Amino acid sequence: MVVMKFGGTSVGDGERILRAARIVAREATTGGTPVVVVSAMEGVTDALIRAARAAAHHKSDLLHRTIAELYSRHEEAAQKVAAPGERGTLLAEVRALVREFENLCSAIQVLGELTPRGLDAVASLGERLSVRLLAAAVRREGAPARAVEATELIVTNDRHGAASPLWEPTRKRTRTALLPLLEEGVTPVVTGFIGATEEGAITTLGRGGSDFSAAILGHCLDVEEVWIWTDVDGVMTADPQIVPEARTLPELSYAEAAELSYFGAKVIHPKTILPAVERKIPIRIKNTFNPDGPSTLIVEEPQDNKTLVKAITSIKGLSLLTVEGRGMLGVPGIAAKLFSAVAEEGISVLMISQSSSEQSICFVIREEETEGALRALREAFAPELAGRNVDRIWAERGVAIVAAVGKGMKEVPGIAAKLFGALGQEGINVISIAQGSSEYNVSLVVKEDEVDQAVRAIHREFALGG
Ligand code: ADP
Ligand code: ASP
Ligand code: MG
Repeated sequence: MVVMKFGGTSVGDGERILRAARIVAREATTGGTPVVVVSAMEGVTDALIRAARAAAHHKSDLLHRTIAELYSRHEEAAQKVAAPGERGTLLAEVRALVREFENLCSAIQVLGELTPRGLDAVASLGERLSVRLLAAAVRREGAPARAVEATELIVTNDRHGAASPLWEPTRKRTRTALLPLLEEGVTPVVTGFIGATEEGAITTLGRGGSDFSAAILGHCLDVEEVWIWTDVDGVMTADPQIVPEARTLPELSYAEAAELSYFGAKVIHPKTILPAVERKIPIRIKNTFNPDGPSTLIVEEPQDNKTLVKAITSIKGLSLLTVEGRGMLGVPGIAAKLFSAVAEEGISVLMISQSSSEQSICFVIREEETEGALRALREAFAPELAGRNVDRIWAERGVAIVAAVGKGMKEVPGIAAKLFGALGQEGINVISIAQGSSEYNVSLVVKEDEVDQAVRAIHREFALGG
């Protein structure tokens, strides 16, 4: 049994949905047992969220335009993918779901408020639409298939927008619902990205979370492998949109894949790795548009264990915050106070560095959280600011992290020097370097408008393009 997950681009229009369906049907009719997970059609989740916000702010124009686009895109795809006898039913289902979206937005408009719970109900509609389209397409390609909503399978806590699965009930429900279907030879086509609380409120697992859905189902069903079908030839030495000569990495360890995704390689969602590690389920990343081309296999112990730097990643849209003061020297508990103040705001810290003189602590957060973090820090350090133990708390916006990822880099001297050298030659200033805890990466902070150039320079320096 394998889980096959298709991302948004892979189901971006009717033609592409049929292409994905052929991959599924081939697996199902040649002795395989696929369980399919699918994302919303490309761009649909963004459109839904934008429209819900527009509704809350009474921007009716944008809302109506989105509603019209959702109807036309999904109706067009339904016409294309359904077998002639199924077209009417599929169109009716699609229209009912878009109508549900209209109703939700009307309610949001009346209330003038968008709650996290309301937002999840809206955001879930993209996947609830796409599963029906893909299931119909798989049937058309000759394999029995049924659309399944993960709200029936994945039970989560109530952290709307970033919910976590409750494993016991999820495992039970998933097996009870899917194993009998599979016995009958029916391929389940399950919504990615979403779940529901015990009470039945729809939740989402975080943006890009369909990969995580695939790993959750793989874990619960004890599958042999999880296959992530996307729009590139697997995990590459860098984002091919930034570095055209990037190459596919044939094998990666779970730890390396986790690090890569955490530091910006969006080809796989960071939360995907843990459920796979626990059951030692290999993850394969494949290209829907080049199914026989190169791919990546993520396992515990890859055969190539020698290459130090495997990939260069980057994250944009960040801020570097600094707490500075000569009086901080030797004062115990400053760092603890700093990070608890930030954590209480629910802000996560991506990277930390402290100068050896202890006169400043720098850390990196998402740019949109800058104001909240500054407020929290100025409040927490009010006594120190008044007593001049802390002189200044400030933020540098518009920065990015660039990270070199690979096993065992920390133990090898000269990697950081090589990174600095590569950037120096390009005239790129390194604002800060991380004192990361993991031995799998070295990360640097640079200006956002220089980060693509930085990625290319480091990629070249380590000859990752071959
Ligand atoms: P999907 O919709 O299939 O989930 P995503 O857009 O989430 O796909 O992820 C695939 C994209 O990830 C690629 O198109 C590519 O631009 C980007 N990407 C970033 N870093 C990497 C990398 N190291 N290797 C491959 N792709 C990467
Ligand atoms: N559709 C969701 C999103 O755009 C989940 C996913 O694509 O993985 O975030
Ligand atoms: Mg994705």
